[in-house]
Amino acid sequence: MKITRLSTYRLAPRWMFLKIETDEGITGWGEPVIEGRARTVEAAVHELGEMLIGQDPHRINDLWQTMYRGAFYRGGPILMSAIAGIDEALWDIKGKALGVPVYQLLGGLVRDKIKAYSWVGGDRPADVIAGIKTLQATGFDTFKLNGCEEMGIIDNIRKVDAAVAVVAEIRAAFGNTIEFGLDFHGRVSAPMARVLIKELEPHRPLFIEEPVLAEQAEYYPRLQAATHIPIAAGERMFSRFDFKRVLAEGGLGIVQPDLSHAGGLTECHKIAAMAEAYDVAVAPHCPLGPIALASCLHLDFVARNAVLQEQSMGIHYNKGAELLDYVLNPQDFSMADGHFRPPTKPGLGVEVNEALVIERSKSAPDWRNPLWRYPDGAVAEW
Ligand SMILES: [Mg+2]
Repeated sequence: MKITRLSTYRLAPRWMFLKIETDEGITGWGEPVIEGRARTVEAAVHELGEMLIGQDPHRINDLWQTMYRGAFYRGGPILMSAIAGIDEALWDIKGKALGVPVYQLLGGLVRDKIKAYSWVGGDRPADVIAGIKTLQATGFDTFKLNGCEEMGIIDNIRKVDAAVAVVAEIRAAFGNTIEFGLDFHGRVSAPMARVLIKELEPHRPLFIEEPVLAEQAEYYPRLQAATHIPIAAGERMFSRFDFKRVLAEGGLGIVQPDLSHAGGLTECHKIAAMAEAYDVAVAPHCPLGPIALASCLHLDFVARNAVLQEQSMGIHYNKGAELLDYVLNPQDFSMADGHFRPPTKPGLGVEVNEALVIERSKSAPDWRNPLWRYPDGAVAEW
């Protein structure tokens, strides 16, 4: 079998799908994207594609190493997201060619179902509580919300009180019947993270995510030493080589590699195994589309330390398309009691509505994250 063509489709809300064709008529789909820089990743995919045309798609390990090590400069969000989507599509081809779901090729199921969580948004506590009630009725008992809005490098106690009040109201409304993680989104500086985590601790969040940016990872062990709440991070780490440093230095209880950002299933399978050796859980990051989600699920079903799966149904970013809009077999990704079951179809298990993808890609928006500024005009982290 030989790879004959790579086609990319940028899509609402902020996704990109990749189709890899072969001379035997089997095609694979991947989702190479970094949110807000889809066109840049698209250029990288097509540059990498030059070395893929004519190659045997079954040799995923060799093609991965060729894409990674075959260039003097490597790593980072753009190149690793491009490799990730290509890698996903190659696994899809292999599974389809062999007639089995990808998790069968990775050793088979380690669990029967995986718990998913849902985002809840809204600025006022009442909105969040109403959102949780609605989702609870559909079977979710685990949620994630942003821990705060923009936070100054040193900020006032009103900001802290406002953030804590939301969380306190949630815990008061639901007692111990729900779990929720709090995503600081890299918005918080190291000094304020210490303050905020201490104040939030009594309300027993499941984890604190990106309490500081990945580029301040030296603070993860220091922050963990000051709290018993598990610290989670990893959506802005892009390879084993990024994860090895945080694992070796300790501090994270949960790593959150993104299957569409960190080199795909090939690389994230290895990252999960490294985390297992450190007794660290895995909760794959996935605010993206259905192929990224399916890739996460194949990892969740083979990695014993996978604990929780993010998914983007109803997420505040999904303007213009929902998670399963481009999928012909949405029933395979429906949740029961807040859990996903293993996909059953060969490959990644996503039947892509190609006609709709082609049509919608003709008018895809270029999503950008907002630019936030502090009251004094300086740029804030979003
Ligand atoms: Mg996050």
